[in-house]
Amino acid sequence: MFFIGIFGVEDKEKEIKIVDKIQCKSCNNITRGRLIKSFRYFHFFFIPIFKWNEEYYIVCESCNKVFSISKDKGKDIENGNNIEITYWDLKEINMNYNYTSVCNNCKKVVDSEYEYCPYCGNKLR
Ligand SMILES: [Zn+2]
Ligand SMILES: [Zn+2]
Repeated sequence: MFFIGIFGVEDKEKEIKIVDKIQCKSCNNITRGRLIKSFRYFHFFFIPIFKWNEEYYIVCESCNKVFSISKDKGKDIENGNNIEITYWDLKEINMNYNYTSVCNNCKKVVDSEYEYCPYCGNKLR
């Protein structure tokens, strides 16, 4: 275990932007959503070398439900294109996916397997 702390693989998530208008499939409100990108990266001395496993999520600001959206659409929005997220873009995440809950303290998307929020230590369950 010579390389500990030098090489590593880490999961990261990043808030890309607030999407002005989404229609939430869960609470049916027309509201704002936060676009979140999660990815896994390989780092060397904490410098990210490459990323993979990119996924995009929309979190409803009114009920905090997390939806996944297609990578293409997520990327387009990240690149600054003005793309509308429609009702049909929101895919409800079923329990087999990793990211199913939002910490109600720091509002980050958290893997549902965690009992405590890995970002702020808030108890999730
Ligand atoms: Zn909602
Ligand atoms: Zn938290």
